[in-house]
Amino acid sequence: MQTSFNPAQLADPAMAASEKILRTCVHCGFCTATCPTYLLLGDELDSPRGRIYLIKDMLEGGKAASAEVVKHVDRCLSCLSCMTTCPSGVHYMHLVDHARSHIEKTYRRPSDDRLMRALLAFVLPHRGRFRLALTAARLGQPFRGLVARLPRVGNRLAAMLDLAPAALPRANPTNRVGSFPAPSTGAPRRRVAMLRGCAQSVLRPDFNEAAIRLLNRHGVEVVHATEGCCGALTHHMGKDHASHAQAKQTIDAWTAEIERGGLDAILVTASGCGTTIKDYGFMFRDDPAYAEKAARISGLAKDVTEYVAALGLMEPVVETDLVVAYHSACSMQHGQGIRTEPKALLKRAGFTVKDVPEGHICCGSAGTYNILQPEIAAKLRDRKVANIERTRPDLIATGNIGCATQIGKGTDIPIVHTVELLDWATGGPKPAALERVRRETLVAAE
Ligand code: SF4
Ligand code: SF4
Repeated sequence: MQTSFNPAQLADPAMAASEKILRTCVHCGFCTATCPTYLLLGDELDSPRGRIYLIKDMLEGGKAASAEVVKHVDRCLSCLSCMTTCPSGVHYMHLVDHARSHIEKTYRRPSDDRLMRALLAFVLPHRGRFRLALTAARLGQPFRGLVARLPRVGNRLAAMLDLAPAALPRANPTNRVGSFPAPSTGAPRRRVAMLRGCAQSVLRPDFNEAAIRLLNRHGVEVVHATEGCCGALTHHMGKDHASHAQAKQTIDAWTAEIERGGLDAILVTASGCGTTIKDYGFMFRDDPAYAEKAARISGLAKDVTEYVAALGLMEPVVETDLVVAYHSACSMQHGQGIRTEPKALLKRAGFTVKDVPEGHICCGSAGTYNILQPEIAAKLRDRKVANIERTRPDLIATGNIGCATQIGKGTDIPIVHTVELLDWATGGPKPAALERVRRETLVAAE
């Protein structure tokens, strides 16, 4: 694609990076075939190619974002399916991240939209605030009908209430700062840090608990450092100030841990967070104080299944002859390019793994998307659930808390994290969510 940025514009490193991305696009339109919003809405401006044109026009023209650009960029899930499809290697993720940041700086959103975004950015990245908000949401659930009728914000507030779980898990003893040493096996010492996460540690602390047991069983010491939110949620809202502050705090916490005892890897059990952490090197590339540290953290970051696959999963000790529909999160398959490892691990653990038809299409979770764009998100969830149910699984496995929450709201089929199944198969407890699996199937499995 031809561009005509002037030298003054290109002196801005962010603009220079976007110009480079724009020039790789050859407008072939292959990406439109796998874009969820184009599939649903059929509008070229809701396709990757259409958005690329809108972003080019906005950035090249040195314009403030218009309501039209904001509408179509907001509808983008950042699912990155277009990046997997693109034959020219267009780095859409960095381009849309830049566009979101530009929108945040140059566009004044309507007051209800501003309020909703400010509320999400204030609450979600902080465990204590999020727990309080979920408690309040559960109290508000009986009034959902009234809330939904509120002008302008009703549908989004109702979507928030819908996402709150019926019961909150108790505070988990493993959700603390500190070390979880592995029993001595005589094998070489391995030490990893694991992201505790913000929303996940409140909604499903059992995910990390299972990961710790699994890793300890494989001779790996796990450390929870003092990091907070990785910054992904605010990053995807274009709130650079907040996301960079959160990412820096996380980088500092893990850097201190590297200096204290060395780390073989930094493991992430939520692929949405993993995609952002692996991108820290790019995010801070022009920050003299953080560029090197950020690149080191990104280099060490791995999804937990990526790490266990490289380590080699031990022989299963429990017969787990259940049919698992493996839902590959967009951040896992498109963001990080991890496609085979989780399924191979599940098979090795004794599960029958089913691919989900249209597996490349997003479930509609996408960070805060299911709250900010509830209608599109609900359509994508229903489509995903219908595709999953066609495989007739006993349970669903995934590697991202956002997908687990989103899909779990649309089906009675239990949904668990991949590591919970690997932990169970190698000697850990049966995941609590599997109590709901058909009894006769479980009896056969035990
Ligand atoms: S597939 Fe790639 S090169 Fe083709 S229009 Fe889409 S982004 Fe551009
Ligand atoms: S990130 Fe997903 S929703 Fe956005 S343009 Fe690409 S394929 Fe479409």
